Amino acid sequence: MKYDYIIIGAGMGGLSAGLNLAYNNKKVLILEKNSLPGGLVTTFKRGRFEFDASLYDLMDYGSEEHIGSLQRLFKKYNLEIDTLPIPYNIRIKSIDDKLDEVMKGEIDDWVLRLEELHSGSMSSFRSLLPLLKEIHEALVALKKGRNNLEKDFPNFIKYVDKNAYDALVDLNLPIDTIHLLGYIWIEIGSPLNKLNFIDFAECMYKYIFRRPVALQNKSIDFTLKLAKRIEELGGKINYRSLVTEIKDTEDGKEVILSDGTKYHAKDVICNLSERYVLKELIKENIPQANQKENARTLSMNGLVVYLGLNKSYQDLKLYNYRYYEFQNLNSVVNMKSMKKFYHHTLEAVVPNIVNEQASPKNTTILVLKTLYSGDVWNSVNKENYYQTKEELANALIEEFESAFHIDIKEYIEEIEIASPITFERYTNNINGCMFGPMRLGYDNSIHRLLSYEEERIPHIHFVGGSSLFGSGVDNAFYSGYYITEKLLEEERRSE
Ligand SMILES: Cc1cc2nc3c(=O)[nH]c(=O)nc-3n(C[C@H](O)[C@H](O)[C@H](O)COP(=O)(O)OP(=O)(O)OC[C@H]3O[C@@H](n4cnc5c(N)ncnc54)[C@H](O)[C@@H]3O)c2cc1C
Repeated sequence: MKYDYIIIGAGMGGLSAGLNLAYNNKKVLILEKNSLPGGLVTTFKRGRFEFDASLYDLMDYGSEEHIGSLQRLFKKYNLEIDTLPIPYNIRIKSIDDKLDEVMKGEIDDWVLRLEELHSGSMSSFRSLLPLLKEIHEALVALKKGRNNLEKDFPNFIKYVDKNAYDALVDLNLPIDTIHLLGYIWIEIGSPLNKLNFIDFAECMYKYIFRRPVALQNKSIDFTLKLAKRIEELGGKINYRSLVTEIKDTEDGKEVILSDGTKYHAKDVICNLSERYVLKELIKENIPQANQKENARTLSMNGLVVYLGLNKSYQDLKLYNYRYYEFQNLNSVVNMKSMKKFYHHTLEAVVPNIVNEQASPKNTTILVLKTLYSGDVWNSVNKENYYQTKEELANALIEEFESAFHIDIKEYIEEIEIASPITFERYTNNINGCMFGPMRLGYDNSIHRLLSYEEERIPHIHFVGGSSLFGSGVDNAFYSGYYITEKLLEEERRSE
């Protein structure tokens, strides 16, 4: 059977692409190497605990009053998911800056606290808010294909080529507030002096005006729901189907699995990194694609330790949803410290703060994460892998205990450690890179959007965290919709 579209990978980008194509009555087949849909958005069981591997803050879903783009898409596909609002509740600590701060309450409380910490923050912060709205609206217009943005969105044009650090200095925010905002609103590891301001501003917009939500049920219930809807709409998903090659045919593409099975389609949509597709699946040389891919900077990889603790979060005094510790709040300085195995940068999340039912009664889930920049993990081999992983997990637990003066070690009932090698094996992301190519410098979302047409490889398309809008479930999902809308539009035009 010949399909209109074959999608490789049932991660967020692939599922979203599958939904939109099936919704539009296209013959679509998704090929997924694992036994479950969702990619990184998955759930695993250890003893009496069910751990979500990645999704703790769902951005751009919004509320009933402020509907986000994800919620709008779910409504279109007749999909209902139960969500819980995530309170702003983080504890942030920086060793060099001697900062240990709990940021809680509504945005106005944060603004007041920022003013107390760094005088002059309040007025500049308030002037930033309308700018975030303007940038968001300009982005919406750009995604809809409008390109004369100067008249309605002059500030978008003013800031489009600036990095986040320079833009925030321009807006008169005190330097210390800039560093703090960097960590509150961006995934750690993107240096503010290279991160494009528009990408930073959009992320901040979603946090402030859309508010992140958590899933009420486990991630796997969510991804199974998406997969079921695709099948109800006539799409097909084949699991345990590892794609090993994509070949040209006279009238499209041939996709070949590890067991030799072949499928045909007019177009192939890859929920994979371009580097992986070019290196592993398309054997021919495509110079313009290689050039683009070489110019990209892969994001960090990291170690995640999933802990099932046999006490309630109240008894453990784990009162914050998220905890961050940094060596230095300056993201450029901090990134340098992450080039070593042992450093003081960590992130933790306590899902029970948002959802009492995240784990059985009187237990708590604590997820610790630390990131590495560069090729730190290249020194790990078969011989030292297990020992290294365990030593690092142990060091991470001790770092958390000493940073926040909270005892956890003696309450550990279940532990699972995921290394960059685990993530690479599960998703095929090169080096276990967690957040796709970083949106840095020239390679930001706006540039990716504007150069989309000229940089295309015929009949091969990319969705997901490595695609136009970068990492995050919201961005990966939106990319699946955006790219397939473009393809459907082209089909309509050629009819
Ligand atoms: C620890 C952690 C925490 C995170 N927390 C959050 C969070 O709180 N909020 C948030 O929004 N984002 C978070 N993220 C990021 C988010 O999970 C990802 O950005 C998003 O899930 C990526 O989706 P994707 O579409 O790129 O697909 P991926 O999840 O990368 O999936 C790709 C799929 O392709 C399949 N595949 C690969 N190769 C082949 C092949 N050859 N043949 C067939 N199938 C193949 C894989 O099996 C996989 O299912 C987190 C990530 C990590 C690692």
